[in-house]
Amino acid sequence: MQVLSVASEVYPLVKTGGLADVAGALPLALKSHGVSVKTLMPGYPAVMRVIEDPKVIYSFESLLGAKADLLSVHHQGLDLLVLDSPTFFDRPGGPYADATGKDHFDNWRRFAALSKAGAMIAQGILARGASEGQDEGWRPDVVHVHDWQAAMVPAYMRYSRAPEIPTLITIHNIAFQGQYGADIFPYLEMPPHAYGIEGVEYFGGVGYLKAGLQTSWAISTVSPSYAEEILTPEFGMGLEGLLNLRQGDLHGIVNGIDADVWDPAKDHSVKAHYTAATLKSRADNKKAVAERFGLDQDDGPLFCVISRLTWQKGMDMLAACTDELVAQGARLAVLGSGDKALENAFHTAAARHPGRVKVLSVYDEPLSHLMQAGSDAIVIPSRFEPCGLTQLYGLRYGCVPVVARTGGLNDTVIDASHAALAAKAATGIAFGPITTDNLRRALRRAVKLYHEPKIWTALQKQGMKSDVSWEKSAGLYADLYKTLLAKKGS
Ligand code: ADP
Repeated sequence: MQVLSVASEVYPLVKTGGLADVAGALPLALKSHGVSVKTLMPGYPAVMRVIEDPKVIYSFESLLGAKADLLSVHHQGLDLLVLDSPTFFDRPGGPYADATGKDHFDNWRRFAALSKAGAMIAQGILARGASEGQDEGWRPDVVHVHDWQAAMVPAYMRYSRAPEIPTLITIHNIAFQGQYGADIFPYLEMPPHAYGIEGVEYFGGVGYLKAGLQTSWAISTVSPSYAEEILTPEFGMGLEGLLNLRQGDLHGIVNGIDADVWDPAKDHSVKAHYTAATLKSRADNKKAVAERFGLDQDDGPLFCVISRLTWQKGMDMLAACTDELVAQGARLAVLGSGDKALENAFHTAAARHPGRVKVLSVYDEPLSHLMQAGSDAIVIPSRFEPCGLTQLYGLRYGCVPVVARTGGLNDTVIDASHAALAAKAATGIAFGPITTDNLRRALRRAVKLYHEPKIWTALQKQGMKSDVSWEKSAGLYADLYKTLLAKKGS
């Protein structure tokens, strides 16, 4: 089976969050299920710099007003279709925002262009257009798009004379919806009737994610709990009505992790390799983390955070707990950036507690690996969390997750209750309802358990046994693709 995946970020080429990890790892995991994936992504400077031997396989004279080439690229096991359009993608800053953090002014056009290119590939431009190379004749059986940046693919397909091809949209975070004014509609190159409640219209404007949810054959999100949560006004962020109508087509499939990239027995970024049988070696990594963060060296617990510093991630609650955490002899290493007020809250806590709290506001992938390998616990007090990946890395690395009971955190971490400990099932510490007081209690519980080495080691070992690989989930995606294909035939 041939699948076209469309995503705005793909690890290891460009990453701002979990979406990239999924878009980079799922195609590899699907191979053993007989599914081969080509991934369409934008040709940002960071992508164009590293790709080798790109072949132009199609040229758009005008893709929403700009020239663009489609490049076929093979990169670290991934089959990529890179949309090379300097007008849209060759600029400083990140994938979505400039260096000052301000959204690129034309994101609506950039990601509509990406989506239109995806729809045209689904319509068979590579089947007709290519004159040489292995992509000649290529046409997907299923189209799988990710988040709002690619959500217009199924809408473009719906409003063109495309052959009927099954589509799946995956929601990685419903908080990001790509909502714009009605004034952009004339520039989207869609027929007038697309601007309606059955199409791209959303609260009097244009909603990209809404359009995708409306026009895709099926919808999935990245954990069963989040699939239920987004049906409620509290989590649905305005889309719960539409999602309730489409409940029969809504699936929750938990993310896996790339177990080769994230393997404490051979990770290049850690100081000392280890397995569940050699957990003591983590001590060298712990020392290295403390050193990198300029924290004291001692035997107390070292907590870490690897996260966007935002309200969603509950970082305001954690910042409010730092004094008590320090009073209990713990240290806290924070890697992340985001809201300036939250960054400042951690910087202020660090100034109050030199040697005990430190925040590094940079994006540092190797350091994130070292932190999972050396910290005792990772704190993830998210108010909502579609899946969450850092708790999965934590489980694999024996870095005990302390999590809020929500979404994918709820589905992947088993709380150290008496019953779960007795059944040797516990893998972390979970708290709810999600309040600062309950987080404070959870942290206190974590410190207490840390000082009971037998229990703590059992938690680490049980976590390391958890199946966090893509194997099972990739099988679920493959089954879903097959179900959609069968619908096409029926
Ligand atoms: P989200 O996608 O909502 O940001 P996830 O937990 O799903 O949250 O994914 C976050 C990913 O980004 C993880 O792979 C995490 O390790 C990584 N990450 C977050 N902040 C940083 C940072 N400052 N440096 C390195 N990696 C980071």
